Amino acid sequence: MTEGADAIGNKGSLSVVIVGGGIAGISAARHLIKNGIQQVKILEAMNRLGGRILTVNGEAGKIDFGAQYIHGGDENPLYQMAVKHDLIDRSSKTTKGSGTSSFYGNEFYKENGSRIPKEIVRDVNEFLESVHEECNGIEENTNCHESMGHCFERRFEEYLGSRDDTEEDVDIKKGLFDWRIRWEIHDNGCRSLFDVASPARYQNYNGSYFTEVKNGFQSVLSILLRDIPSECIRTETPVTKIDWESSGICNDRIGSKQCMIETKHGEYIYCDYVIVTVPLGFLQSNTEKLFQPPLPSRKKAAILRSGFGNLVKVFLTWTTPFWDKSFEGIQFVWTSNKDVIDKQPASILTKKNGDPWYRDFDGFHVLRDNPSTLLGWIGGEGGCLSECLAEGEILETCYLLLKKFAPDMNIPKPCKMQRSQWQSLEYIRGSYSYVSIYSEPNDFEELTKPLPSKQNPVLLFAGEAMSYHHYSTTHGAYESGIDAANLVLQNATQFLNI
Ligand SMILES: Cc1cc2nc3c(=O)[nH]c(=O)nc-3n(C[C@H](O)[C@H](O)[C@H](O)COP(=O)(O)OP(=O)(O)OC[C@H]3O[C@@H](n4cnc5c(N)ncnc54)[C@H](O)[C@@H]3O)c2cc1C
Repeated sequence: MTEGADAIGNKGSLSVVIVGGGIAGISAARHLIKNGIQQVKILEAMNRLGGRILTVNGEAGKIDFGAQYIHGGDENPLYQMAVKHDLIDRSSKTTKGSGTSSFYGNEFYKENGSRIPKEIVRDVNEFLESVHEECNGIEENTNCHESMGHCFERRFEEYLGSRDDTEEDVDIKKGLFDWRIRWEIHDNGCRSLFDVASPARYQNYNGSYFTEVKNGFQSVLSILLRDIPSECIRTETPVTKIDWESSGICNDRIGSKQCMIETKHGEYIYCDYVIVTVPLGFLQSNTEKLFQPPLPSRKKAAILRSGFGNLVKVFLTWTTPFWDKSFEGIQFVWTSNKDVIDKQPASILTKKNGDPWYRDFDGFHVLRDNPSTLLGWIGGEGGCLSECLAEGEILETCYLLLKKFAPDMNIPKPCKMQRSQWQSLEYIRGSYSYVSIYSEPNDFEELTKPLPSKQNPVLLFAGEAMSYHHYSTTHGAYESGIDAANLVLQNATQFLNI
């Protein structure tokens, strides 16, 4: 491709609308602009950019309600960018694999308030880490119908059977297994580990699994946004209809602006290409309404069969920390099925199996830039239920949980609670995607396929769920935005004969 003035001029006449202003939409727009496409518009439904990247002011520093860590080192383009802009503290601890080794510094407590010896925690988790690796990205086979839940259960039974542990140790190990399952549910953003296919397709980049970004993840987004003129961005502009065949498909279609976008405000915007980057959860609930002509039935089925769950972050802040420098966090290990917190709040929401919602918390741990705040994670059904609870009830429940598990720490009541509610947001609907046990072998290809075809891409799809190996992450979303932009550029080049 020769990049002469005419070529750039021609490309400049092309227009691309990007639906959704998360990191996928932003990376697509940036890549198009950098490559000579001038008429790029990001239409974002909410009143801010970033989507599932949301850094807010906590009581004692920045906190991230969504993405917080860069997963992987030098191979990860966002890591490279963060390093270049001095957003990484090179002295921070590194964690490999799934990152659960970063919890070894935490205290694992049983519900009766006793601490579990570190060797047992390490022994069980190291074994389960190897199962995690088995369940992730080992084979490129999405047609495997063993769930991650079954794989973990089967391997853990083999593990217990291969040892001669005392009854007491077996109970503790079962409790640690239950903790790890809660952690896996949160990490996979699913409701149940029995919904997640094993082996999945996720592949780690080399390097640390948890790298925090100075001043929150928003700093990474701000770097990308520097290259996008403000006139290319419109927030508070929900797209209600995408007509991707408005003037018929023909070979010299460029310039005929065959896509028509309708917004909630009743505006019509015409363009040559549309890149849809809305979350999979939004797509699952809106495919019928959003597209004209309707998406092909195979694509709709692939969208509906894909996995998209939820994950809730709960930040508790104290006026002064009750912990010392060596403290890293408290993890909750339930060894009894029946036990509950001592003083129950008035209304307790229960899961399908009758357990109270709060049993799905993993625990609470310290944050890098926030000296008096602890972060707790709650995934699965409990996380979903928590989103409809009042803030006061969540704060009270977390306080009672912490006091029950770690009575020796004399924990005072937190002064503030902040939490994410991704599932309740109309334009998000949950946390991130996972490979579902219900998916069929060609579903990923169907999901990501541009329409009407790869050779003639008018309607393109990007976003974390469209990444084969890095779904669920910011870098997967970022890379998918670039891939979609490249398809537009290739196609435009071909049609403009550049
Ligand atoms: C709690 C939580 C923790 C996470 N932690 C990490 C982490 O530590 N590291 C990591 O790498 N990833 C993490 N992730 C995942 C990461 O945040 C996402 O994978 C990534 O941000 C997704 O980017 P995206 O552009 O694909 O989608 P989004 O960021 O969701 O952007 C899509 C945008 O589309 C907009 N939209 C939807 N419908 C319409 C419409 N009709 N019209 C116009 N706009 C519309 C939405 O408002 C949204 O802004 C986390 C996510 C969550 C929820």
